[in-house]
Amino acid sequence: MSKNEELFQEATGYMPGGVNSPVRAFRGIEMAPRFIREGRGCRITDEDGQEYIDYIGAYGPLILGHRHPSVVAALKEAVDRGTAFGAPTALEVQMAKRVTELVPSVDVVRMVNSGTEATLSAIRLARAATGRDGIVKFEGCYHGHGDSFLIKAGSGALAMGVPDSPGVPASLASLTRTATFNDLASVKRVLAAEPDAIAAVIVEPIAGNMGVVPPAKGFLEGLRELSTSYGALLIFDEVMTGFRVSRGGAQELYGVTPDLTTLGKVIGGGLPVGAYGGRRDLMEQIAPAGPVYQAGTLSGNPLAMSAGLAQLDALEASNAWEQLESTSGLLETGIRNILEELSLPLALNRVGSMMTLFFTEGEVTNFEQATRANTKLHARFFRNMLEAGIHLPPSQFEALFVSLAHEQDDIDRTLEAIRQSLKVTYEV
Ligand SMILES: *Cc1c(COP(=O)(O)O)cnc(C)c1O
Repeated sequence: MSKNEELFQEATGYMPGGVNSPVRAFRGIEMAPRFIREGRGCRITDEDGQEYIDYIGAYGPLILGHRHPSVVAALKEAVDRGTAFGAPTALEVQMAKRVTELVPSVDVVRMVNSGTEATLSAIRLARAATGRDGIVKFEGCYHGHGDSFLIKAGSGALAMGVPDSPGVPASLASLTRTATFNDLASVKRVLAAEPDAIAAVIVEPIAGNMGVVPPAKGFLEGLRELSTSYGALLIFDEVMTGFRVSRGGAQELYGVTPDLTTLGKVIGGGLPVGAYGGRRDLMEQIAPAGPVYQAGTLSGNPLAMSAGLAQLDALEASNAWEQLESTSGLLETGIRNILEELSLPLALNRVGSMMTLFFTEGEVTNFEQATRANTKLHARFFRNMLEAGIHLPPSQFEALFVSLAHEQDDIDRTLEAIRQSLKVTYEV
């Protein structure tokens, strides 16, 4: 038995499914997950000493790659001053100021400890600010594991939410309406059915959690108009896209300004962080400035702030987003050439350094089309890639992430592995 297998067997005795977050367990892949010992740049090494080129990047946070020297240095310095104080620090002021400078919609920001916490808090604020309880989310969009967000779509856009997980009260789920991504008519139907009931429309401006699905032209603009005309707040969940697709996130890339924005992943430099922010008049309703309660023992933690600030500094100091675009463009072009060479017309979606190869033909513009993907073929491809030393997300419905540490050589090696793995997967 390999060390990975041994560890996984032991882990299942002490943790649900052997992991602390479900996607890590490689369910559906029929193999033990790789237990990672260390990472550097775009490479990671598992407990068996196998090295991989990593395209998970901790599911988004590690945009500079693993163990970036300036992040490590900032962390070491912070550790030497103390790990937590439960009192304000200068680092938090720096971080808040930086976020408001970078993210167009954010005048005032509150730091939390995860993306889930950010979206839960943003929804509470939206409900308080509007005096309404309903929320609209999109089928296939993920906003963390909060009760209100674990809602499957009903049979029609008007259907009441049905909980996706046992333990979510039906009464709470019934406050969540679902609409179809890239389909403004479906949003309009939901809003028009209950014109005074919806507190917020929450969306991943670039969907990343059904695999990557870019917004169609005019979709985000349309959401902005519809939300305003029905008195609902527009929340962009930029936990994945923030600081990744551009300096100011998807809202800067597409020029659409939401009322509230949620952040996470990149902002923490690999430490547990989230944030939510927006218009001053809204954010000043948060305690202690206002009556909407939200708190956190470790919120604004000095280690997390140090790592996050160091990462943002490094991004801004280089032409990070241009470099990410060009490296990711190489990977995309290479994959398209291979697909053509092998006569495999698979759907490939990319925005900046987020990308998904869907094992389905035709375009993928929403959840229904994404779920047409053949997950068995994806699993076979994934296993072949892992054996070839490439660490991809084990689920078809996740984005792969290119980092600043990926270089031409890594992309070339990855493309060769993709060519071979696709050949084996399709037996062509
Ligand atoms: C990852 C993610 C979350 C949840 O963040 P956690 O830190 O895992 O709680 C929320 N929204 C989006 C868009 C995400 O990608």
